[in-house]
Amino acid sequence: MKVIEHINRAKEKNETLISFEVLPPLKGKGIEALYEHMDPLMEFHPAYINVTYHRSEHEFRKNPDGSFKKVTIRKRPGTESICAAIMNKYNVDTVPHLICGGFSITETEDALINLQYLGIDNVLVLRGDAAKHETAFIPHPDGHRYAIDLLKQVVNLNNGIYLEEELINSRKTSFCIGVAGYPEKHFEAPNMETDLVYLKAKVDAGADYIVTQMFFDNAKYYAFVDACRAKGINVPIIPGLKPISTKKQLTTLPKVFSIDLPSELCNEVLKCKNNEDVEKVGEEWLLEQSRDLKKNGVPVLHYYTLGKPHIIANAIKRL
Ligand code: FAD
Repeated sequence: MKVIEHINRAKEKNETLISFEVLPPLKGKGIEALYEHMDPLMEFHPAYINVTYHRSEHEFRKNPDGSFKKVTIRKRPGTESICAAIMNKYNVDTVPHLICGGFSITETEDALINLQYLGIDNVLVLRGDAAKHETAFIPHPDGHRYAIDLLKQVVNLNNGIYLEEELINSRKTSFCIGVAGYPEKHFEAPNMETDLVYLKAKVDAGADYIVTQMFFDNAKYYAFVDACRAKGINVPIIPGLKPISTKKQLTTLPKVFSIDLPSELCNEVLKCKNNEDVEKVGEEWLLEQSRDLKKNGVPVLHYYTLGKPHIIANAIKRL
């Protein structure tokens, strides 16, 4: 079932849905590692599960003679098949992330056809970040530069328009399409206004809903929703939430995700003697954020589960 159908049904019943984002296991770990991560979360009956996509990276490895060789590795492969495996094991809808980076448009079309064969109704379309060896995002020579270009390809397939124009009676896909939004602005956008212009373009091109980057201050989410509505962006805006769990995250989260952490949260974390205490602070903060968002009628509470699913499970139990 499509994410937008889940949202519309929940709206009729005045319910707030729960969804989770998981990462494919590191290569070599096996899918059981993912199931162990997910098992404690499934008792909350998520409406759907997002599975992230991780592009290939180049690394330079030292040869015995001291020279270096360039190797291409994908540390977390398998997004599409993991989605199918999760659907099969837990009987829940899945949302594979699709990215522009590293893909030609032909490879993207093949991936979409695979998803359709697997019975997957949803995609979250993203540009992807720059590869680790690049200083800025460089599109594949035959690929897409922006998420909107990928989105238009999915919309085309939904209208039965494949890359090979001479295909006759081609089957229309029926993907529900999500896109990313940034309550604290995407780090490359010159200002919020411009970022919203491009976000509106994604919605006008056919996005069914928006999922936000994580934020730790709900006021930023509400301001973002208001700004979107003022711009005529009227699709559901799903808040993305993550618990803080280590002291180190006070510096890594702002750097990696270009977000601010509220001083009240930082002060609480700095008082902690160890990371077990930080987890407790993270759980309380997540619970308060979730309660407030639920009270204010958000359609879904979407949790980024990387690393610490038990903190999320504890918070949801108390919600
Ligand atoms: P876009 O919408 O293309 O925007 C990128 C930048 O370009 C923005 O600054 C925007 O303002 C600007 N822009 C957009 N359109 C235009 C245009 N036509 N002309 C000029 N400028 C334009 N990354 C992964 O690699 N794998 C994942 O699984 C993944 N999952 C994510 C899930 C969520 C919910 C979020 C919020 C992010 C995720 N990311 C993931 C990270 C994401 O790929 C990066 O944030 C990336 O830098 C931007 O992606 P986007 O889809 O927002 O890009």
